[in-house]
Amino acid sequence: MGILEKMRLDGKKIFVTGGARGIGMNIALAVAQAGADVAIVDMDLDQARKTAEHIAQETGRKTLSVKTDVTNPQDVDHMISEILKHFGRIDVAFCNAGICINTPAEEMTLEQWKKVIDVNLTGVFLTCQAAGKVMIAQGGGSIINTASMSAHIVNIPQPQCAYNASKAGVVQLTKSLAIEWASKKVRVNSISPGYIGTDLTLNSPTLKPLIAEWERLSPLKRLGRPEELQAIAVYLAGDASDFTTGSDFVIDGAFTCF
Ligand code: NDP
Repeated sequence: MGILEKMRLDGKKIFVTGGARGIGMNIALAVAQAGADVAIVDMDLDQARKTAEHIAQETGRKTLSVKTDVTNPQDVDHMISEILKHFGRIDVAFCNAGICINTPAEEMTLEQWKKVIDVNLTGVFLTCQAAGKVMIAQGGGSIINTASMSAHIVNIPQPQCAYNASKAGVVQLTKSLAIEWASKKVRVNSISPGYIGTDLTLNSPTLKPLIAEWERLSPLKRLGRPEELQAIAVYLAGDASDFTTGSDFVIDGAFTCF
């Protein structure tokens, strides 16, 4: 089989958390273009529905939208059973939902700290655990977590200690699960994007004013575009990456190189 055929995802059943918009939406569109059926999992059901309809129209693949708060174990279990009901199996899980709160460490409330850790780390763990159980029973699968370059460096000038800590946790959780589940043929990898132009950055009142500074600090002098993460997502979802597990892929336009 040639490499382009190996990159196809025909018939695979995939879900993407935080899939209604931004990076998740772009990943969902890409895997559907490569032949997969895809479930859009998000807190925002209206936007998830719109995204699912758009992807179905663009690609002709089956899509599904499921309202889920990844911090709530009951929601996550319900999401898994909805996907199994409609798709019959789960081959690939993208645990992508995440948030950022920018508060100086000395002013951060416990509530703010817990919120970020809950969504970005506990939410990823709950989603991996629920998808992993299904994949172990099926005899294999691929899980891809969205971490961040913030797992590796401390962003400046904005303060975001909880975010940075949560994303470092995602990278180490990914490696831990890759080891635990290697013999069960469940691969677990993470993607660590640099600054990407999405609602999280472009439409955040605290982050938007910093974009010019980030661009100045960036070797490529620009933010990444969410579609620039599509190829790595398709690669990690499919059989071309059979030997790839426990890896973190930093896609940041060399931002973390110096
Ligand atoms: P967006 O804010 O554009 O999209 C995130 C999506 O996740 C939203 O649809 C949001 O829903 C959803 N979401 C938030 N909390 C939950 C939850 N508890 N349960 C389910 N869904 C939820 O963000 P991005 O696309 O930019 O980010 C996606 C991922 O990429 C995140 O993990 C982020 O940390 C990471 N990342 C982003 C970078 C960037 O520069 N943009 C850089 C590096 C990493 P709602 O609209 O209802 O809040």
